[in-house]
Amino acid sequence: MFKNALRLPFRLLGIPVYLDITFLVILPILAWLIGNQIEPFLEILELPIDAEPLITGWTPYLLGLAAAVALFVSVLIHELGHAVTARFYGVETERITLWLLGGMAHFKEMPKQRGAEAVVAIAGPITSFLVGFVAWLGLSFVPVEQGGLYFVLLYTMYMNVLLAVFNMIPALPLDGGRVLRSLLALRMSHLQATRMSAGISRFLAVALGIFGLLSFNIFLILIAFFVYMAVTAETQYALFTETLSRFSVDSLMSRPVISVDPEVTVDEVRKRMMSEARLAFPVRTGGGDFVGEVRLEHLREAPPGRVVAEVMSEAPPSIAVTVGANDLFDKMIRDENHRLLVTDESGAVVGIVTKTDLVRALQVLSMGPRAM
Ligand SMILES: [Zn+2]
Repeated sequence: MFKNALRLPFRLLGIPVYLDITFLVILPILAWLIGNQIEPFLEILELPIDAEPLITGWTPYLLGLAAAVALFVSVLIHELGHAVTARFYGVETERITLWLLGGMAHFKEMPKQRGAEAVVAIAGPITSFLVGFVAWLGLSFVPVEQGGLYFVLLYTMYMNVLLAVFNMIPALPLDGGRVLRSLLALRMSHLQATRMSAGISRFLAVALGIFGLLSFNIFLILIAFFVYMAVTAETQYALFTETLSRFSVDSLMSRPVISVDPEVTVDEVRKRMMSEARLAFPVRTGGGDFVGEVRLEHLREAPPGRVVAEVMSEAPPSIAVTVGANDLFDKMIRDENHRLLVTDESGAVVGIVTKTDLVRALQVLSMGPRAM
């Protein structure tokens, strides 16, 4: 998901915003759907608006487009509500993505404080209620005779209230589900809380799916499907990180660190890679400082006679020896580091940990008894 996304040329509150390809597809469809529903919408609300000028020619579709854009801007503000609250807990938001079913804020990590997830989650629906309130205030400044603008504002107001209420359904990964999980985690382990809320979420997803089928609502069916898939992934991830957290970097790393000197020639390193079956070496000076890393791809192009210092890249980043394997996993996957130098409290390098070490640990874990 989100591999094909267009990045907006500006940041909002310092956060990059991406438009997923599915968003670009749904926007005109939504504009068309809303445009076709202007008349019934006005009729249901019994508004004293003459629908005729609003549904002739291109007008309904322009209004539909305006309402659809207003809806997605509302979703964006909802996500910013999450992002600003997460910032209070010192957690930065990597990006916000708008896609087929709304928005998603990707946090660098989850706030670890007790109950923090609930606060960050509830900030979204509260923000939507506030936006709905602002739209409602706006309505009192726009005369009903301004049919088009009135319609868009009214639509925005209803959609924001709906957005707030819908997101409070206690199913993961919706905001309500996160609030529930975070509250449960105050009384039990995070994993138990995830499992319990996952059960509730699956039940709600199936109920929502059936309701969507009975009412011929394709969006509800899609959302039910999405909730069901996402909750499975969420439970697996919780199980996985919980298991990993029992290991520390200490138990996974290799020591001592096998390194090469920056003045060694590339031919020598090539030979060592062959004989020791390694794809990379950290580069260490005679004084013991790690100054770089030399990988197989560096050697491919290098003419013979060159020394390592001329072709190497930056030294691998470091990680503390006491860190749990779950955080190691995050650092490796998120930042795409294949190797990390392991340091002790004094900052001295005591070992190296690679993706292979992590994969091996995961294989061992997957064979072991599932005691949880
Ligand atoms: Zn939300």
